[in-house]
Amino acid sequence: MQKALPRIRKFHGHIGPYVLLGYRIGELSRNVIKNIRSIKIYVHDKPPQSCIIDGIQLSTGCTIGNGKIKIINSRAKTKVLVFGNNSKIEITLSNFIKQSLKKSLKLSIPIIKKANINNLLGIKN
Ligand SMILES: [Zn+2]
Repeated sequence: MQKALPRIRKFHGHIGPYVLLGYRIGELSRNVIKNIRSIKIYVHDKPPQSCIIDGIQLSTGCTIGNGKIKIINSRAKTKVLVFGNNSKIEITLSNFIKQSLKKSLKLSIPIIKKANINNLLGIKN
């Protein structure tokens, strides 16, 4: 994560909690699904929540431009569906990080950088 920060800043323009979360979601996705075919992101379509999209694009190579990412505007819940050849996973934000984001976006940044992935994200098939 630490090594990726300059790339994230250059691409996205700033370092915020949602772009970092997106980056970590992409890393987790690549670890679980070797050949990602497409990604569906359910997220509020305005910053800061939508910043998650850039993190995912950067860490997976799936982009809006190459047609591998679809955005569904959702205010209710942020979730990411990742499709491989014969597999699919659903990634959601943990209650722990949701509470942290609600309290302070800024203070969530170091947490997202360092926390164990299992404390940040939920994953199911
Ligand atoms: Zn942002």
